[in-house]
This record gives sequence, structure tokens and C-alpha cells, in this order.
Amino acid sequence: MTMAAILIVEDSPDNMKLFRTLLELKGHAVTGLPGGDDLFSTLEAGTPDLILMDIQMPGKDGFALLEELKGSAHRGLPVVALTAHAMAGDRDRALAAGFDGYITKPIDIRQFPQQVADALEGNFPRDA
Ligand code: MN
Repeated sequence: MTMAAILIVEDSPDNMKLFRTLLELKGHAVTGLPGGDDLFSTLEAGTPDLILMDIQMPGKDGFALLEELKGSAHRGLPVVALTAHAMAGDRDRALAAGFDGYITKPIDIRQFPQQVADALEGNFPRDA
């Protein structure tokens, strides 16, 4: 697996810790944000190879942040949505909104690193 810079936007500290741990174990450099407030200043400081974006967040949600990204100079960055299993409609909506793929939470901790590796190679995860 290629090491990469991955930006995670996720409001749940428990999820963030899990995602970070799993990806750092694979050698990735992970930056975490609890929401969109610092998204653009973070992108100005360094462009990640991949963004993992939670959908459900207080304040601006993942859809709103994706729309801002698509209207910015960062529109070409690959963005994978993190969708809640219970919110089945979010997955179709995520693809329609322009996310490159989605990973459903709760994640499968054995599949997650491979889903991210696939996304880094342009094979975006669209699990059930
Ligand atoms: Mn959330």
C-alpha cells in the first residue's frame, strides 16, 4: 500500500480515533478535523491525497462541505463520504452530490484500510 496524506473530517471523537489508528498503522499521515471550520485553512496548508468526509455533523454537514469544496480551487480532490448504516438514503444522495464513493459506518475494521487503499488508486468504495 502506498503511504498517503489523508484528511478526515468527522465529529465523533471515537470514530476519529479508530479511523486514525487504522490508517496510521498502514503508514498514512492523517490529519483530523472535527468539522468544517478549519477545512479550507487546512487545505491551504497542505493538500491531502484523499478526504474522508462524515455526512452527519453539527453545523455544516458533509453535503454542505462538499458543495463548498466543489466550488473552490480544491474541487479536484477525491472525497469519500462516511455514511451511517441507518441512513440508507445518504449513500445514493452522496454519489448524486458528487462524492467519489462512500464507506458505511460502523466500518469493518479489517476492510477499512483496503477501502482507503482502493480509493487512493481511484477505485472508490461503494459498499452496501
Ligand atoms: Mn457525524
